[in-house]
Amino acid sequence: MDLRATAEAAPAPHLRDRSDIPDRFKWNLAHIFSDWGGWQEAYDALETKIAAYAALQGTLNQGADRLLATMKLSDEIGQLTYKVWYFASLKYDEDQRDNQINAKRQQVQILFAKASQASAWFNPELLAIPLPTIQKWMIENNELALYRFALEDLYRQQEHVLDDKGEHLLSLSSRFSSSPNDGYSALSTADVCYPTVRLPSGAEVTLTYGQYRAILATHRSQPDRATAFTEFHELYAANVNTYASLYHAVLQRDWFHSQARDYRTTLDAALHGNNIPPAVVENLIETTKAGTEPLRRYHRLRKRVLGLDTYHVYDTTIPLVDFDHKYAYDHVLAWLPASVEPLGRDYQAQMREALGGAWIDVYENPGKRSGAYSAPVYGVHPYMLLNYNDTLDAVFTLAHEMGHSMHTLLSNAHQPFVYSAYTIFVAEVPSTLSEALFLEYMLARATDEREKIVLLQHTIDGIVSTFYTQVMFADYELQAHRLVEGDRPVTADGLGDIYFNLLKAYHGDAIDYDDLSRVTWARIPHFFSTPYYVYQYATCFASSAQLMKQLTTGSEADRAKAIERYLTLLKSGGSDHPMTLLQRAGVDLSKPEPVRAVVDQLDDLVTQLETAINHLA
Ligand SMILES: [Zn+2]
Repeated sequence: MDLRATAEAAPAPHLRDRSDIPDRFKWNLAHIFSDWGGWQEAYDALETKIAAYAALQGTLNQGADRLLATMKLSDEIGQLTYKVWYFASLKYDEDQRDNQINAKRQQVQILFAKASQASAWFNPELLAIPLPTIQKWMIENNELALYRFALEDLYRQQEHVLDDKGEHLLSLSSRFSSSPNDGYSALSTADVCYPTVRLPSGAEVTLTYGQYRAILATHRSQPDRATAFTEFHELYAANVNTYASLYHAVLQRDWFHSQARDYRTTLDAALHGNNIPPAVVENLIETTKAGTEPLRRYHRLRKRVLGLDTYHVYDTTIPLVDFDHKYAYDHVLAWLPASVEPLGRDYQAQMREALGGAWIDVYENPGKRSGAYSAPVYGVHPYMLLNYNDTLDAVFTLAHEMGHSMHTLLSNAHQPFVYSAYTIFVAEVPSTLSEALFLEYMLARATDEREKIVLLQHTIDGIVSTFYTQVMFADYELQAHRLVEGDRPVTADGLGDIYFNLLKAYHGDAIDYDDLSRVTWARIPHFFSTPYYVYQYATCFASSAQLMKQLTTGSEADRAKAIERYLTLLKSGGSDHPMTLLQRAGVDLSKPEPVRAVVDQLDDLVTQLETAINHLA
């Protein structure tokens, strides 16, 4: 999971065939199954268990034993599913040109659909039994008590479930609920005609989104960046009324579902699943808006260092200095465990094991999936896919994915299966914290001012894109949804005003504004595909910033307690609601402190950047 899509990474000098890459740079999937024969056996066993689960329908009200048997079988299916799915899926990602493996992967997806049909009876049948009865069973049966949180949470969610007739009616609407986003994808991707333009410096480019970002990140000529910005945004301006109609449909759909299920607002409806109070999002937005000064300072500093007379949104990503140091993978392997020293020896030892155990697929090869991820293969260990290319981005990506993997490792080791998976609401805490610790380590070892500047810019840009921008997006979504909640019209002009005013509220006089920025909202796919989702990146970031503060400052005794609390968070998996887990770790997202920790962190980083730049001059 990473919002920070890197602008077209430079191609590796020579793309090696997979068979030419030494084994120690490849993951070993034999830890899951020794071969496809083993996989097929597990697949068949899974199919049998799914059929057995379907056969349990109608038995729950016979008592605690029946419910326990169902829960246990569900766990067995879940555990086997991880192995069967990931063996095929990870193999496929090694070389996505392999049709046979792709077919096996699809075979698992078909089985998943069967599994969900085979278990559809469970929730209604459970919820027909009064909660006090279930609670009495859990008192009498210790093994069943393990499932308390999972079961009680289903009853909590039931509050907004309608009667059969109502649910049936809503289910009929599900097919056209996805229409606005389908329309958006068609308009912005399938039917789009990317313009080929000649840049002022002479180069001719076809402006895809990747190209657009690459120009902003690599072209030192401001007129080139300006041209790319104008041409790319004209694409959206040309269809802005259609985009506005599609977004209006998204907003009306959300408001329809919220009202149908008796939620006060669309935000309430979106947060209910994870039991997050709406005040968390409101507080996030308010406190961030009050903390934009370090962001503005950063942009003013950039304008000065880049020697620009005017400074625009398209000038915000170009590197401040040229520095193309290569980071050999073997060096990074030694640095990573050293960087997590504040988390203790056990944590370091576990990380060394992860780094040396053939869990990581390091280099690119023809057909390999792009990007990076950590795959939580329950019952085995996490696997990590990288496309490591010796750049600083690649180094931080490894630190990031390592954070996810350590979370998986600790959660799986300390939780029963039912609570081993963690929610997205906490998932990005360990990954960003892992990056923050790594930055501290790298800054301490850097002797070259240019390297320091690059490290600081990398980190600051990360805070801007995963925190400030995401909060601004959350603010936008909230204001847009409030239009329909308040029976106000939704037009392209109105949406443009919201976006433009937010841009100004965050950046003040630190940037020069272009009218075309009014259409930027139309090119953010998250607004159309997953409303009220991106704020979670910001809350994770804020939690991680506050934890980082607690882990690295204060008395030794305070730090020791903070480490204990943090490791407890990682070991807790999904055993409670995310807000509760974070509160136990010392982070209260309903209070302004976590957000202020990000603001302070950014302020400090900008000061460090200023100093490093002054040293260079
Ligand atoms: Zn992530």
